Amino acid sequence: MAADFKSGYVAIVGPPNVGKSTLLNRLLGQKLAIVTPKPQTTRNRILGILTRKRFQMLLLDTPGIFQPGYRLQKVMVETAKRTLGEADLGLFLTEWGREPGPDENTIIQLLAKAKTPTVLAINKVDKLKDKKLLLPLIETYSQRHQFLSVVPVSALTGEGVEELLEVLAKHLPLGPQYFPEEMITESPERFLAAEIIREKVFLRTGEEIPYAVAVKVDEYKERDHVLYVKATIYVERDSQKGILIGQKGRKLKEIGRFAREELEHNTEKKIFLELWVKVRRKWRQKDADLRFLGYRR
Ligand code: GDP
Ligand code: MG
Repeated sequence: MAADFKSGYVAIVGPPNVGKSTLLNRLLGQKLAIVTPKPQTTRNRILGILTRKRFQMLLLDTPGIFQPGYRLQKVMVETAKRTLGEADLGLFLTEWGREPGPDENTIIQLLAKAKTPTVLAINKVDKLKDKKLLLPLIETYSQRHQFLSVVPVSALTGEGVEELLEVLAKHLPLGPQYFPEEMITESPERFLAAEIIREKVFLRTGEEIPYAVAVKVDEYKERDHVLYVKATIYVERDSQKGILIGQKGRKLKEIGRFAREELEHNTEKKIFLELWVKVRRKWRQKDADLRFLGYRR
């Protein structure tokens, strides 16, 4: 290993829905974190390991920072805040078209307090033809906080992402390669499977259903070249259970099919996926349930 090898943690933080998880996946060059058009998709901190010749960047995707209501949201926001405090570098992500508001104020105050050196990236610039239009936003942010650098990107198209990576790598501290280079995450396969199922629920249900859903994998084992995955989808009320299962079980079948296809693609194995729906009243409000479902340490 070269003497000037760099490594460290980079916390990706920002308001909900600006593209943090999409950016993580883009930086890694593969899908690790789930992505949906709905805010508050990410609930846990997710480590993505990016190893290059001269550095190993430990990217931490986080839930969005916003004004939380119920207990799960509070835990999510705490997770994001704590991650920023623990990281070597911050990557504050916002999106083109979004004016700084209360969530941004919270994050900027946090940056000042945590003293984590931070790069600002403005995402979704694919929506923007004339890049000069970014200048007022860059100006506003620069007056509010001393960022290491401001980089416009599109996590969707990849525009600016290599430049962003270079800026981040430049500010990484010197350090060893902590993880083997072929390793891209620490998340167990069970967690990743549960997340894929939850993504399909988010994509195929509306209203409050996605927010009332949690997924836990109960069984994950290989037998005769087939991977058996048994998972429970938890909801808060009977009515939600009914909607999720759908007429003649159609909705749940559809969710199961999409989840299975993605799992088969990822694992390159034949999957037998069994989904159950259970009611767990007010799980979003209860610490013990949040711990059971993996949202609290
Ligand atoms: P997060 O909540 O910050 O993690 O945001 P996600 O990564 O889940 O993305 C939220 C939504 O924004 C999804 O519909 C993404 O497809 C979309 N999105 C993310 N990055 C971009 C981008 O660079 N350009 C555009 N147009 N959409 C994006
Ligand atoms: Mg996310």
